[in-house]
Amino acid sequence: NLSGKLDKAFKNLKGQGQISEINVATTVKEIRRALIDADVNFKVAKNVTDTIKEKALGQDVLTAVSPGQLLTKIVSDELTLLMGGSKEDINLKGEPNIILISGLQGSGKTTFTGKLANHLKSQRNILLVACDIYRPAAIDQLKVLGEQIGVDVYAEPENKDALKIAKNAIKYAKENNKKTIIVDTAGRLAVDEQMMQEIESLKKNLNPAETLFVVDAMTGQDAVNTAKTFNERLNFDGVVLTKMDGDTRGGAALSIRTVVDKPIKFISHGEKMEALDIFHPERMASRILGMGDVVSLVEKAQQNFDEEEAKRIQKKIRKNNFGFDDFLSQLEQIKKMGNLKDLMGMIPGVGKAIKDVDIDDDSLKPIEAIIKSMTINERENPDVINGSRKKRIANGSGTSIQEVNQLLKQFDQMRKMMKTMNKMGGAKRMMSGMN
Ligand code: GDP
Ligand code: MG
Repeated sequence: NLSGKLDKAFKNLKGQGQISEINVATTVKEIRRALIDADVNFKVAKNVTDTIKEKALGQDVLTAVSPGQLLTKIVSDELTLLMGGSKEDINLKGEPNIILISGLQGSGKTTFTGKLANHLKSQRNILLVACDIYRPAAIDQLKVLGEQIGVDVYAEPENKDALKIAKNAIKYAKENNKKTIIVDTAGRLAVDEQMMQEIESLKKNLNPAETLFVVDAMTGQDAVNTAKTFNERLNFDGVVLTKMDGDTRGGAALSIRTVVDKPIKFISHGEKMEALDIFHPERMASRILGMGDVVSLVEKAQQNFDEEEAKRIQKKIRKNNFGFDDFLSQLEQIKKMGNLKDLMGMIPGVGKAIKDVDIDDDSLKPIEAIIKSMTINERENPDVINGSRKKRIANGSGTSIQEVNQLLKQFDQMRKMMKTMNKMGGAKRMMSGMN
């Protein structure tokens, strides 16, 4: 399954250092494959993963998480965004308010019509309209559903003109104080010119506040193509994904949303009238990823960074007196939070200065040793460190003068950068980006 595949993809990052070009490339490739396997259209999957890659590489927010978790969060956020970010409600404008249901035969239109009525019946007086004039059984099917949920159904079994039936239904609705009419229509097994003209004419003449396109999520890539065709002819307002019960993959949601750029409004997941959910992009993203828990874990970890300490350091940076002791304290903090490698690029100033240095827990030890071999005065005022002091520090820390020089140089660059950032007012922005 997708979850397992992503696990495998993220394993590439486990124990790795920062999110680097190389490990991201491998992981992103795996994510792309996993998305395609979950029915996400190839082009969409490619675009998503390109964006994810870019975001992952530019990542310098401080978090106490592994690169894999961080990447999961990025992927999840990106998928959510691509599916519209937040939920979108249907339009209930007009008296009566008209909702037109479109889609192929067998997609679940009639079932959804009943479910939607059931969903809305507590707030609106509803009339269901049977406009599937080709199959006699379709009328009975709607009537049975109407009876089951206690909602009136308007039908004219002898009439073969869908538009006329709908218009009569509107008249009936006005006379009987119905606030919302839901018009169930006919479909074909494949996109068909006659069906398209009929539904087009219904939309043009009824002018519904909401036209919904119902599509079977199990049909994968076909669902995307059908959605495209219907949207070109109908310019519908929203999508209903049906048959999302069982282990139906959610990839269709992502593809459809991206390809037709219309919000998904409901998902239908079973034959019972209650099996209807309002579509929430972030929940679908978790479903596609199959790792809802990981996402919240990542969010929690992001709050774990010691805010007090961050504020203290921020103050010192602002006053241009960030010293080696502060540097050391930052390193301690990082180590406390877990895998150092995950976090290196993320400390303000520090991260940027050592970003290109290959650093891990072991390579930090000499740095710590060097700092600890300095006097308090040297830590606060590194400028006093002359040749003989360097020699003493190198000896005391078991390192070489070269290493001491390197650290001093990096620290100096870092302080210069902090100064510049202070002038631009950037330090505060950077620090606030950490939480
Ligand atoms: P229509 O031709 O578009 O009106 O489709 P129907 O509403 O008649 O549904 C076609 C078949 O799919 C029926 O057997 C329904 O019971 C079934 N169906 C509809 N929605 C769902 C769903 O969300 N989950 C499942 N498992 N079956 C569904
Ligand atoms: Mg039907």
